Amino acid sequence: MEEENVDWMKNAEWVKNHLDGMNVDSYWSPDGMGFLLKKVEDKKLVLVRCINHYTVLRSISGLKTLAFDLGYTVSDSDIEFDDVPESSEDAQRINDLYKQIIVDNWKCESCGFPIVEMDASNVFPTLIETTEMLDEDGNVVEYDWWGMILVCPSCGHETTMTIENFTNSHGEVLVHRIKDGNTIYQAHTRQVLVDMVESGEYDASKFCLLGSTSPSGEKIPMWMQGQYCEMIVLEDGEEE
Ligand SMILES: [Zn+2]
Repeated sequence: MEEENVDWMKNAEWVKNHLDGMNVDSYWSPDGMGFLLKKVEDKKLVLVRCINHYTVLRSISGLKTLAFDLGYTVSDSDIEFDDVPESSEDAQRINDLYKQIIVDNWKCESCGFPIVEMDASNVFPTLIETTEMLDEDGNVVEYDWWGMILVCPSCGHETTMTIENFTNSHGEVLVHRIKDGNTIYQAHTRQVLVDMVESGEYDASKFCLLGSTSPSGEKIPMWMQGQYCEMIVLEDGEEE
């Protein structure tokens, strides 16, 4: 365990914004902090799980004090303890486990259908908004915000997810592709490319290198620029 101590009071404003912004029935587990808490009512928090180590317990105690000052009650009477991780992999496993509990709990805001169960096979990175920002030299630069839009199969409500959240709920593969006309440009991991070459599946005529835009000149996300992609041509009718 890291011996780092979090000064919750120094981050009071951030914690306040986060707690106030949480929906009832949602979870929170700050990265690497070793605990998972749930908001069960407007001003009521419940500690669900934590690592049974004094740095974590001390940190929780500091958070409880701050939350109390912010008008919250925090209950830890039903907390479940996890053993102190024996390695960094083990610590990562616990961190991922807490994250997974959070992701499994994401729901359609309109009807409650679980986000993880929504089909994303037809979801592609979508330009949500372009905003103007100042760069370090004070120049106005355009910044593109990309997201993934999931449609609820139960009620049709559209949920716009950040790339990071979508990656947590549906994995990385669908984020690393674009659709241009009737062609999907899918980037692969090095391992997948190696496997393709070694199995004889690789066909150079079905791959292309993306530039700064799509082949038809549309904007594409920064992380897709310069990617060597497999071209998957959709049959008629397969397209939306
Ligand atoms: Zn819904």
